[in-house]
Amino acid sequence: MSQVANPVTDKVKEVFEAVVDALRVPKPEEGTPSAVFRSFEAEALREEIIRTGRKLWERQYVDGNGGNISCRIGGEYVLCTPTMISKGDIAPADICLSDMSGNIVAGNPHRTSELLLHLEIYRANPRARAIVHCHPPYATAFSLTGTPPPCGLISEYEIFIGPAALARFETPGTQAFAETVLPFVQDHNTILLANHGVVCWSDTITHAEWLVEILESYCKTCVIAGQIGKPLIPIPEPKLKEILDLKRHLGFPDARMSSSSSDVSPDVSSAEVDRHFREVVSRL
Ligand SMILES: [Zn+2]
Repeated sequence: MSQVANPVTDKVKEVFEAVVDALRVPKPEEGTPSAVFRSFEAEALREEIIRTGRKLWERQYVDGNGGNISCRIGGEYVLCTPTMISKGDIAPADICLSDMSGNIVAGNPHRTSELLLHLEIYRANPRARAIVHCHPPYATAFSLTGTPPPCGLISEYEIFIGPAALARFETPGTQAFAETVLPFVQDHNTILLANHGVVCWSDTITHAEWLVEILESYCKTCVIAGQIGKPLIPIPEPKLKEILDLKRHLGFPDARMSSSSSDVSPDVSSAEVDRHFREVVSRL
Protein backbone atom coordinates (compact mmCIF):
# COMPACT_ATOMS: atom_id res chain seq x y z
CA MET A 1 0.00 0.00 0.00
CA SER A 2 1.53 3.29 -1.04
CA GLN A 3 2.00 5.98 1.61
CA VAL A 4 -0.04 9.13 1.23
CA ALA A 5 1.86 12.39 1.67
CA ASN A 6 0.73 14.19 4.82
CA PRO A 7 1.81 17.87 4.89
CA VAL A 8 1.03 18.17 8.60
CA THR A 9 3.23 15.19 9.49
CA ASP A 10 6.03 16.48 7.28
CA LYS A 11 5.85 19.91 8.92
CA VAL A 12 5.96 18.39 12.42
CA LYS A 13 8.96 16.30 11.39
CA GLU A 14 10.70 19.36 9.96
CA VAL A 15 10.15 21.37 13.16
CA PHE A 16 11.26 18.44 15.36
CA GLU A 17 14.52 18.07 13.41
CA ALA A 18 15.17 21.81 13.66
CA VAL A 19 14.71 21.66 17.45
CA VAL A 20 17.05 18.66 17.73
CA ASP A 21 19.70 20.49 15.69
CA ALA A 22 19.38 23.54 17.92
CA LEU A 23 19.81 21.41 21.05
CA ARG A 24 22.86 19.64 19.67
CA VAL A 25 25.28 22.07 21.33
CA PRO A 26 28.84 20.73 21.30
CA LYS A 27 30.42 19.86 24.67
CA PRO A 28 33.39 22.07 25.61
CA GLU A 29 35.97 19.44 24.70
CA GLU A 30 34.42 19.15 21.26
CA GLY A 31 34.92 22.82 20.54
CA THR A 32 37.98 24.79 19.57
CA PRO A 33 40.17 26.07 22.44
CA SER A 34 38.79 29.57 22.02
CA ALA A 35 35.20 28.22 22.13
CA VAL A 36 36.02 26.29 25.30
CA PHE A 37 37.61 29.40 26.80
CA ARG A 38 34.49 31.46 26.03
CA SER A 39 32.02 28.82 27.30
CA PHE A 40 29.72 29.41 30.28
CA GLU A 41 31.55 26.63 32.14
CA ALA A 42 34.89 28.39 31.67
CA GLU A 43 33.38 31.69 32.79
CA ALA A 44 32.11 30.10 36.02
CA LEU A 45 35.45 28.39 36.66
CA ARG A 46 37.37 31.65 36.10
CA GLU A 47 35.17 33.29 38.73
CA GLU A 48 35.85 30.41 41.13
CA ILE A 49 39.61 30.74 40.53
CA ILE A 50 39.46 34.49 41.21
CA ARG A 51 37.42 34.00 44.42
CA THR A 52 39.83 31.31 45.60
CA GLY A 53 42.86 33.47 44.83
CA ARG A 54 41.43 36.24 47.00
CA LYS A 55 40.80 33.78 49.86
CA LEU A 56 44.38 32.50 49.67
CA TRP A 57 45.73 36.04 49.76
CA GLU A 58 43.41 37.21 52.56
CA ARG A 59 44.35 34.17 54.66
CA GLN A 60 48.05 34.91 54.01
CA TYR A 61 48.61 31.55 52.35
CA VAL A 62 50.41 33.25 49.44
CA ASP A 63 53.06 35.93 49.27
CA GLY A 64 54.18 38.17 46.41
CA ASN A 65 53.19 36.38 43.21
CA GLY A 66 53.40 32.96 44.92
CA GLY A 67 50.89 30.14 44.68
CA ASN A 68 48.80 28.92 41.78
CA ILE A 69 45.35 27.49 41.05
CA SER A 70 44.08 25.32 38.22
CA CYS A 71 41.12 23.17 37.24
CA ARG A 72 40.29 20.80 34.43
CA ILE A 73 37.62 21.75 31.91
CA GLY A 74 36.32 18.86 29.83
CA GLY A 75 38.76 16.08 29.07
CA GLU A 76 41.40 18.01 27.18
CA TYR A 77 42.03 21.36 28.82
CA VAL A 78 43.13 23.05 32.05
CA LEU A 79 42.40 26.59 33.22
CA CYS A 80 45.23 28.03 35.33
CA THR A 81 46.45 31.20 36.94
CA PRO A 82 49.14 33.33 35.25
CA THR A 83 52.65 34.00 36.42
CA MET A 84 53.77 37.19 38.19
CA ILE A 85 50.39 38.24 39.58
CA SER A 86 49.32 38.34 43.22
CA LYS A 87 46.55 35.81 43.83
CA GLY A 88 44.58 38.66 45.38
CA ASP A 89 44.55 40.65 42.13
CA ILE A 90 43.56 38.16 39.42
CA ALA A 91 41.11 39.37 36.74
CA PRO A 92 39.21 37.13 34.27
CA ALA A 93 41.48 38.21 31.39
CA ASP A 94 44.54 36.95 33.31
CA ILE A 95 43.48 33.29 33.26
CA CYS A 96 45.21 30.89 30.84
CA LEU A 97 43.85 27.83 29.00
CA SER A 98 46.34 24.99 28.54
CA ASP A 99 46.06 21.62 26.85
CA MET A 100 47.17 18.53 28.74
CA SER A 101 50.69 18.88 27.32
CA GLY A 102 51.21 22.35 28.76
CA ASN A 103 50.66 24.33 25.54
CA ILE A 104 48.74 27.55 26.14
CA VAL A 105 45.91 27.48 23.61
CA ALA A 106 43.75 30.46 24.67
CA GLY A 107 43.67 33.34 27.12
CA ASN A 108 46.74 34.85 28.77
CA PRO A 109 49.89 33.27 27.25
CA HIS A 110 51.94 33.76 30.44
CA ARG A 111 50.98 30.74 32.53
CA THR A 112 52.12 29.90 36.06
CA SER A 113 55.55 28.30 36.18
CA GLU A 114 54.03 25.46 38.22
CA LEU A 115 51.64 24.26 35.49
CA LEU A 116 53.95 21.23 35.06
CA LEU A 117 53.22 20.19 38.66
CA HIS A 118 49.46 20.48 38.11
CA LEU A 119 49.56 18.52 34.84
CA GLU A 120 51.52 15.65 36.42
CA ILE A 121 48.83 15.32 39.09
CA TYR A 122 45.96 15.49 36.56
CA ARG A 123 47.57 12.88 34.32
CA ALA A 124 48.34 10.55 37.24
CA ASN A 125 44.97 10.77 38.99
CA PRO A 126 41.74 11.41 37.03
CA ARG A 127 39.91 12.13 40.31
CA ALA A 128 41.93 15.33 40.61
CA ARG A 129 39.81 17.99 38.87
CA ALA A 130 41.21 21.04 40.66
CA ILE A 131 44.52 21.91 42.33
CA VAL A 132 45.68 24.63 44.72
CA HIS A 133 49.36 25.21 45.48
CA CYS A 134 50.38 27.80 48.07
CA HIS A 135 52.71 28.59 50.99
CA PRO A 136 50.67 28.65 54.23
CA PRO A 137 53.13 29.39 57.05
CA TYR A 138 52.37 26.61 59.55
CA ALA A 139 52.12 23.80 56.99
CA THR A 140 55.22 25.11 55.21
CA ALA A 141 57.02 25.20 58.57
CA PHE A 142 56.42 21.43 58.90
CA SER A 143 57.87 20.98 55.40
CA LEU A 144 61.07 22.64 56.65
CA THR A 145 61.44 19.99 59.33
CA GLY A 146 61.12 17.12 56.86
CA THR A 147 58.24 15.78 58.96
CA PRO A 148 54.52 15.93 58.11
CA PRO A 149 52.21 16.86 61.01
CA PRO A 150 51.32 13.98 63.36
CA CYS A 151 48.08 12.07 62.79
CA GLY A 152 45.30 10.84 65.04
CA LEU A 153 44.64 14.05 66.95
CA ILE A 154 41.63 15.81 65.36
CA SER A 155 38.82 13.92 63.61
CA GLU A 156 38.15 16.46 60.84
CA TYR A 157 41.80 16.35 59.77
CA GLU A 158 41.70 12.54 59.75
CA ILE A 159 38.57 12.48 57.55
CA PHE A 160 39.54 15.05 54.95
CA ILE A 161 43.31 14.67 54.83
CA GLY A 162 44.90 12.08 57.18
CA PRO A 163 48.59 11.36 56.78
CA ALA A 164 49.96 14.10 54.52
CA ALA A 165 52.80 13.08 52.20
CA LEU A 166 56.11 14.91 52.02
CA ALA A 167 57.68 15.23 48.56
CA ARG A 168 61.44 15.72 48.32
CA PHE A 169 62.91 19.08 47.36
CA GLU A 170 63.52 20.00 43.74
CA THR A 171 63.92 23.37 42.09
CA PRO A 172 60.43 24.88 41.69
CA GLY A 173 59.07 25.22 38.17
CA THR A 174 61.06 22.32 36.74
CA GLN A 175 59.82 18.99 35.39
CA ALA A 176 61.89 17.25 38.08
CA PHE A 177 59.99 19.24 40.71
CA ALA A 178 56.65 18.34 39.12
CA GLU A 179 57.46 14.63 39.28
CA THR A 180 58.30 14.65 43.01
CA VAL A 181 54.61 14.28 43.87
CA LEU A 182 53.95 11.26 41.64
CA PRO A 183 54.55 8.58 44.32
CA PHE A 184 51.83 10.18 46.47
CA VAL A 185 48.98 11.45 44.29
CA GLN A 186 46.87 8.28 44.46
CA ASP A 187 46.70 7.92 48.24
CA HIS A 188 47.09 11.55 49.31
CA ASN A 189 45.03 14.61 48.40
CA THR A 190 47.46 16.83 50.34
CA ILE A 191 51.22 16.85 49.82
CA LEU A 192 53.84 18.93 51.63
CA LEU A 193 56.59 20.11 49.28
CA ALA A 194 59.92 20.06 51.12
CA ASN A 195 61.27 23.56 51.87
CA HIS A 196 58.55 25.10 49.74
CA GLY A 197 54.80 24.79 50.54
CA VAL A 198 51.82 22.52 49.92
CA VAL A 199 49.70 21.24 47.06
CA CYS A 200 46.13 19.89 47.40
CA TRP A 201 43.82 18.31 44.81
CA SER A 202 40.09 17.73 44.93
CA ASP A 203 36.96 17.58 42.77
CA THR A 204 36.48 21.37 42.73
CA ILE A 205 38.66 24.45 43.18
CA THR A 206 36.74 25.40 46.32
CA HIS A 207 37.22 21.97 47.90
CA ALA A 208 40.94 21.99 47.09
CA GLU A 209 41.24 25.36 48.87
CA TRP A 210 39.30 23.99 51.84
CA LEU A 211 41.86 21.19 52.15
CA VAL A 212 44.55 23.87 52.45
CA GLU A 213 42.51 25.60 55.18
CA ILE A 214 42.01 22.34 57.08
CA LEU A 215 45.72 21.48 56.80
CA GLU A 216 46.93 24.92 57.85
CA SER A 217 44.54 25.18 60.78
CA TYR A 218 45.57 21.69 61.92
CA CYS A 219 49.30 22.46 61.66
CA LYS A 220 48.80 25.67 63.62
CA THR A 221 46.89 23.81 66.35
CA CYS A 222 49.62 21.15 66.55
CA VAL A 223 52.28 23.84 66.99
CA ILE A 224 50.26 25.55 69.74
CA ALA A 225 49.50 22.26 71.48
CA GLY A 226 53.18 21.37 71.37
CA GLN A 227 53.98 24.56 73.32
CA ILE A 228 51.68 23.67 76.23
CA GLY A 229 54.26 21.27 77.59
CA LYS A 230 51.98 18.25 78.04
CA PRO A 231 51.90 15.07 75.94
CA LEU A 232 49.38 15.12 73.08
CA ILE A 233 46.55 12.60 73.58
CA PRO A 234 45.59 10.73 70.39
CA ILE A 235 42.04 9.75 69.41
CA PRO A 236 41.37 6.21 70.81
CA GLU A 237 42.09 3.51 68.24
CA PRO A 238 38.51 2.13 67.97
CA LYS A 239 37.19 5.65 67.36
CA LEU A 240 39.88 6.28 64.76
CA LYS A 241 38.68 3.14 62.98
CA GLU A 242 35.13 4.56 62.94
CA ILE A 243 36.51 7.78 61.45
CA LEU A 244 38.33 5.86 58.72
CA ASP A 245 35.14 3.93 57.95
CA LEU A 246 33.37 7.26 57.45
CA LYS A 247 36.27 8.44 55.30
CA ARG A 248 35.99 5.34 53.12
CA HIS A 249 32.25 6.03 52.80
CA LEU A 250 32.94 9.60 51.67
CA GLY A 251 35.52 8.41 49.14
CA PHE A 252 38.53 10.41 50.31
CA PRO A 253 41.97 8.86 49.71
CA ASP A 254 44.06 7.72 52.65
CA ALA A 255 47.35 5.84 52.66
CA ARG A 256 46.19 3.80 55.69
CA MET A 257 43.43 2.27 53.59
CA SER A 258 44.14 0.09 50.55
CA SER A 259 46.14 1.77 47.81
CA SER A 260 43.24 1.19 45.43
CA SER A 261 40.93 3.17 47.70
CA SER A 262 41.40 6.28 45.61
CA ASP A 263 39.84 4.46 42.66
CA VAL A 264 36.69 3.63 44.62
CA SER A 265 33.76 5.88 43.95
CA PRO A 266 32.27 7.45 47.06
CA ASP A 267 28.99 5.98 48.36
CA VAL A 268 27.59 9.46 48.85
CA SER A 269 26.59 12.36 46.65
CA SER A 270 28.89 15.31 46.08
CA ALA A 271 26.27 17.39 47.93
CA GLU A 272 26.82 15.32 51.08
CA VAL A 273 30.59 15.67 50.74
CA ASP A 274 30.09 19.40 50.26
CA ARG A 275 27.98 19.56 53.43
CA HIS A 276 30.70 17.78 55.45
CA PHE A 277 33.32 20.18 54.05
CA ARG A 278 31.21 23.21 54.99
CA GLU A 279 30.67 21.93 58.55
CA VAL A 280 34.41 21.58 59.01
CA VAL A 281 35.37 24.89 57.42
CA SER A 282 32.73 26.77 59.43
CA ARG A 283 34.54 25.66 62.58
CA LEU A 284 37.96 26.87 61.44
ZN1 LIG B 1 55.33 27.64 45.33
